[in-house]
Amino acid sequence: MAGQSIAEVRSLLAAAGLSPRHRLGQNFLIDLNLMRKVVQAAAPRADDLLLEVGPGTGSLTELLLERGARVIACELDRGLAELLRQRFADQPRFTLVEGDVLAGKHTLNPELIETWQAQRADCRGHGRLVANLPYQVATPLLMELLIQRPDIATLTCTIQKEVGDRLLAEHGSRDYGPVSVVARTLATVTRVALLPPQAFWPRPKVDSVAIHIERKASLPFAAEQSADFAALLQQAFTQRRKMLRVALRPVLGERAAELLSSTGLDPTLRPESLPPSAWHALFAAARR
Ligand code: SAM
Repeated sequence: MAGQSIAEVRSLLAAAGLSPRHRLGQNFLIDLNLMRKVVQAAAPRADDLLLEVGPGTGSLTELLLERGARVIACELDRGLAELLRQRFADQPRFTLVEGDVLAGKHTLNPELIETWQAQRADCRGHGRLVANLPYQVATPLLMELLIQRPDIATLTCTIQKEVGDRLLAEHGSRDYGPVSVVARTLATVTRVALLPPQAFWPRPKVDSVAIHIERKASLPFAAEQSADFAALLQQAFTQRRKMLRVALRPVLGERAAELLSSTGLDPTLRPESLPPSAWHALFAAARR
């Protein structure tokens, strides 16, 4: 088992009476060199616990299991879940959770979390996400894993290029927003590879990227405050074209002007011009 060619993916689906479902982002990664690159970047070890969201026909899963790690996979498609149960029936290091990885906008699937925590308890290695993510869930999923699961040390995945651009964006750029600030505050984000549409079957209409996110060891605030920090950014950026003194008023109320002046920030700047360090200072001042 070393990843599946397009012919293998097609025949696995046909044998199960399935065909790719666009609505579920079923674009199977068939460029096995790129798939190996993703695994190399994730660098899983035998004592690690891996989370794979959207295992599909199990192509990436096979590569991950080859590394000796345990894999918890979450698949929404009932037909694919059945295919995976049969395919990995003899594999004790594979656990499948069937269902939506997200139970709500800011809530991870509770059965998945329970399964993860139970296996994490006796795992001496690192927790890691390795996945070819369905486009629809990438942003909320990455945000929630970064914010809620500090026991996931690295997140290596393929996502829509546009989402990758937002994660990697520098302040002042068009793509810079809450996702960029949260990601760059909690982690270091690197681009592993660009994936053209032909790396997948069926071909998506957009380009994709593989990214590697490595959690930082030290944060500018307590890890438990990450959700509040993300909420502040989310609200502030809803008015990204307005000056800070206006954009921050709905979030910080009457204190907005005073907090901007106490942190030495120019109130006429726009949210997108503040680097992460300025957001940290503002968040710290707002909590005092
Ligand atoms: N891992 C396979 C590969 O690399 O070729 C398939 C990846 S495909 C881009 C995305 C997979 O995510 C599909 O198997 C799809 O059914 C599954 N999926 C879509 N939405 C999901 C969700 N909300 N929760 C869990 N799995 C989901």
